[in-house]
Order: sequence, then C-alpha cells, then structure tokens
Amino acid sequence: MEVPQYFHMNGGTSETSYTSNSSMQKRGIEVTKPIIQEAILEIINSISSGKDIPKSISIAEMGCSSGPTALLVVSYIIDTIYNNNKSLHESDGALSGCPHPEILVLLNDLSSNDFNVIFKSLQGFYDQLKKAYTNLGDADDDQKQHGCFVAGIPGSFYGRLFPSGSLHFVHSSYSLHWLSPKRNKGNVYMAESSPPSVLEAYLKQFERDFCSFLKCRYEEIVKGGRMVLTFCGRADDTSPSRGMHCFIMNLIQGKIEEEKLDSFDMPQYVPSPSVVKSVILNEGKNIVNFMRSISESLVVSHFGEEIIEELYKRCREIIAPRLSREGSRKTKHLSIVISMTRK
Ligand code: SAH
Repeated sequence: MEVPQYFHMNGGTSETSYTSNSSMQKRGIEVTKPIIQEAILEIINSISSGKDIPKSISIAEMGCSSGPTALLVVSYIIDTIYNNNKSLHESDGALSGCPHPEILVLLNDLSSNDFNVIFKSLQGFYDQLKKAYTNLGDADDDQKQHGCFVAGIPGSFYGRLFPSGSLHFVHSSYSLHWLSPKRNKGNVYMAESSPPSVLEAYLKQFERDFCSFLKCRYEEIVKGGRMVLTFCGRADDTSPSRGMHCFIMNLIQGKIEEEKLDSFDMPQYVPSPSVVKSVILNEGKNIVNFMRSISESLVVSHFGEEIIEELYKRCREIIAPRLSREGSRKTKHLSIVISMTRK
C-alpha cells in the first residue's frame, strides 16, 4: 500500500482541527528552542568565511502539517539569525541596514496536507517579521524585504525531496512516528491483543523508514549542515501497544467486523529512545479532539463516516472519568530529541 492520499491531519481551524489541537506539540517544540538555536549558530559559523556571513540559508520543515507549529521553528531560526547578525554589527558600530542571510523555508508534508491554511497565514507572518525586526523597515512598506521566502514541498519524507547538498538545516517534530504504510497485508494497528509478530513488524518498519529518512537527508544536507528531530516517544522498550496512541484501536476492536479491522492500517509507531538510537547508530475532551485531529482521516476513509461521532463520543465517555480519577495529575508525554551534524 502506498502512502494513502487521504491521510492528513484534520485541516481548517475548527474545534477538531489540528490547528486547534496542537498545543502539546507547541509546548514540546518550545523546549527544544535552545537546541535549535545552537544548531543554527553552528551552521552560520561553519559556512561563514572571515566576517562574511553566508548570503542565504535553506531550511526544511519536514511534516509541517497545517497548524501554528508549522512556522514556529522557522520563527526561532529567524530570531537566532537576525539577533546574531545584530550583535555582530553592534560590535562593529554599524547596525542600520546590516545584511543578514536571506532564508529559504521549505515546508514539507504529504500532498493531502492542508497547505493552504499555512499559505493564507504567510502575509501576516511576513508582516510580523518586519515589525519584530525594526531594522527591516515599516511593515506596510512592501518594498522593504523581510528576507524570508516560504515554499511548500509536497511528498513523502521517506523519499528524496530536495536537490543534493542544498539544505543547511532540517527540522522535524512529532512526524517520524508516522510510518510509510507499506507493510505486509493483514497487519492490524497495534492494540493490547496484538501478537508479538505484529509488534515486531511495526518495529522493523519503523527502523526501515527512519533509515530511509536519514539516507535521503544525508544526500540533501550540505556538509556541516544540521538536523534536529523530535519524536513522540516511549520511556522504555516495554509494551509499544500501551498508551494513548493505541487507545482508539482497542476501542474499535469488537465494534467492527473482523475482516474490516484486519485490513485497517494505522501507520504509526512510537519508538523508545533505544530504538531511535539504534537506528541512528547503525497527550476529557481536549484529548479526544487531539486524537481526532490526527486520526480522523484514516478512520473515516476505512470504516466510514457512520461510526465516527459514536467512536469519539465513546472515547470521551471513557477518558473523562479516567481524567477526573487522576485529579490534577497531568498527563505526561515523552519526547525524544536528537540533534545531528552532517559530516
Ligand atoms: N510538525 C508538526 C506537525 C506534526 S503532525 C508539529 O510538530 O506540530 C505529523 C505530520 O507529519 C502530519 O501533518 C502528517 O501529514 C505528516 N507526515 C506523516 N507522514 C509523512 C511522510 N511520509 N512525509 C511527509 N509528511 C508526513
């Protein structure tokens, strides 16, 4: 099975859209800001010669989706580049009109992603840049350049997407647990009743996919370029079928004819740190909306619209008492962050 054309995070800006349900990811990305800043400064150092700063820097955001997180890391990068440039020129006593590297931002996701939500927000983003960095000029003045150019690159990040040696920095967050759905027929999504062979097949697929991702990016990133990846993770190697990501499938089981269930493909694997490491070396209602924003397109396309309201209603009925039992204890999410340099 090829990457499904119908698969996408819920688009638009409604209550069950990814846009309205990505605050957990936003918090996770905020924590990685210092790692991203350090990587960007290293890139600038490695490609600057003497006092000459590079003319342009190309960055790719892989699996950008359609929510506010699509441009969050981009804003960190721009902030880092402009502030670094400002401090360099302040020390020279020549701040105004100082050149900074222009930034090409390549936003990647599957072609079924709602890129238009991002594209419609771009003018506001550019205006904010001009306002935030006063030396870039008046936000109403179209002649003044913000020096940032954003483009969409549809396609699977498990294949080649960019020319060789063309990227300085690659970022991806909360996307690489989505597998390329090209597995043996008959594998169901992992649920508590899944046999070890299914769990093993998911692990192997994750390893193969992540390896393809690394190989492709190796070709595309310049020497000295950097990559920061943030995964949804599991704390350890025990039971990959436990946790929120398997909850929907446990619920669907018993409600749907077995044949339909057996042919369903939920291409997701949440790795543990040791799984990520071995490949490199050789989060009520809000929760349900969150789960719905990421899983609805797959569930609807396979099981039909009819079960959808009932399914997510049952999710709410089951999750709400659990949450109140747990009181104010917060649901914990584990993220795995890795920062790499291309040699
Ligand atoms: N990076 C954002 C979005 C994460 S949601 C954030 O941190 O909030 C995961 C995104 O990965 C979805 O938009 C999904 O369409 C995308 N995705 C999944 N598999 C992909 C693939 N093979 N190639 C490109 N994008 C993919």
